Amino acid sequence: MSQRFQSYINGEWIAGNGSEPDENPSDLDRPVGEYGQADAVLTAQAVEAAAAAWPKWSLSTPQQRADILDAVGSEILARKEELGRLLATEEGKTLPESIGEAARAGQIFKFFAGEALRIPGEKLASTRPGVDVEITREPVGVVGIIAPWNFPLAIPAWKIAPALAYGNTVVFKPAEIVPGCAWALAEILSRAGLPAGVFNMVIGAGRVVGAAMVEHPSLDALSFTGSVPTGNGLLRQAAARGLKIQLEMGGKNPLVVLADADLDKAVECAVNGAYFSTGQRCTASSRLIVENAVYDEFAARMRKRLAQIKVGNPLEAGIDIGPVASLAQLETDLSYIKAGHEDGGELLFGGERIEIATRGHFLEPTLFAAKPEHRIAREEIFGPVAALLRADDYEHALALANDTRFGLCAGIVTNSLKHATHFKRHAQAGMVMVNLPTAGVDPHVPFGGRKGSSYGPREQGRYAVEFYTTVKTAYTAA
Ligand code: NAD
Repeated sequence: MSQRFQSYINGEWIAGNGSEPDENPSDLDRPVGEYGQADAVLTAQAVEAAAAAWPKWSLSTPQQRADILDAVGSEILARKEELGRLLATEEGKTLPESIGEAARAGQIFKFFAGEALRIPGEKLASTRPGVDVEITREPVGVVGIIAPWNFPLAIPAWKIAPALAYGNTVVFKPAEIVPGCAWALAEILSRAGLPAGVFNMVIGAGRVVGAAMVEHPSLDALSFTGSVPTGNGLLRQAAARGLKIQLEMGGKNPLVVLADADLDKAVECAVNGAYFSTGQRCTASSRLIVENAVYDEFAARMRKRLAQIKVGNPLEAGIDIGPVASLAQLETDLSYIKAGHEDGGELLFGGERIEIATRGHFLEPTLFAAKPEHRIAREEIFGPVAALLRADDYEHALALANDTRFGLCAGIVTNSLKHATHFKRHAQAGMVMVNLPTAGVDPHVPFGGRKGSSYGPREQGRYAVEFYTTVKTAYTAA
């Protein structure tokens, strides 16, 4: 077992120094396995291996890269049930959600297999006679990838696949609590035909491995998804040494419900967006902003619907919500429930831990009637805890929706074309949803936010080319 989760450096599996148990948040007495811990020295070796492999890999043909990424995508898709089971066990999403995420990861590899063959460029007429101007895209170099735990297959996929597609080499650091999914993905990549050093994975603590990666002079770019404090710290380090960086961070996403909305649809959007995946999605609807005229009716329907939600082992059929992913996250959730009470919020549903047959981090879906200034209405919680806010009218709802330092996703449920159109234009967010939950995006279009949620170019879809390539302008005279 101790050999199972090793780091992958320069084409070899390396055990590292010591190991840590990989917790199963649904059954604390049955860990997923043990995983070796890499240190700063191994991390430096991984970056150096990636730097040594880059000159040749950067000149590989688009077809070679497309074939490898396509094969990786096919294998992930063929094994989506097995990978989904691992994800559900390790991270705690329900099995259908986990299988869906595994499939998403496979589709992303296939999408970028195609993109490797479609690297864009331009040819323009020069302002000078007899001169041609070509604008081409070249790989950036060694790309560091630091990922969070909440989408342990999809987020690594949407960073690793474009990095490789555009000819970069990779050092990937997964989050501490999901080494199993990272290992499974690395194992597939290790058999896909990549030359040694092109893809490396280093398992270990963020403050050790992540820090060593970002400080290494051979790292050319860093793509990070995670919390605001970690991201802002990395941004300062990157600025100090001129490192290209992309950050996807937290959210406090609003879902506005107008008086003209189909309330059944509004409740389903709210329950899905706020509570599915245990509320552990950066795009989760953690602020439900409801127009006064339907506020009481909406609150009553939410209570009724939440009473039907089944929390339990994510591998069991019929379970809607699995456990909180870790003890640390559970403690954060409980501290915000306490803050909800302390700030004068009215608990409308939930608020308590749940015991099941196994020891795990289970928590009731929790809804507070809150005021905009309450901590639960302002700070990212990242758990199944939502704040219900009252709005006088559409304008007030929009103002409340934008009254946040975050700007990842904003949703509205309405039958008014006028308000939907206005909201799409005026919501201060990178993504807007009309009559849909705030969480749940397509893999082939840009993903990312504004304000304190994101920094740098968008991820995913054709827009990923911006971060993973650098532009060259070449002038030619006959
Ligand atoms: P986190 O910031 O604690 O950790 C993210 C990653 O950074 C982990 O791999 C961690 O090991 C690493 N890390 C920690 N300290 C580091 C350091 N000093 N140097 C380098 N790396 C370091 O975040 P998390 O708890 O894993 O994830 C939850 C957060 O991620 C939430 O805030 C959520 O909103 C955000 N998230 C955002 C998006 C998005 O696309 N906007 C998507 C998913 C999750």
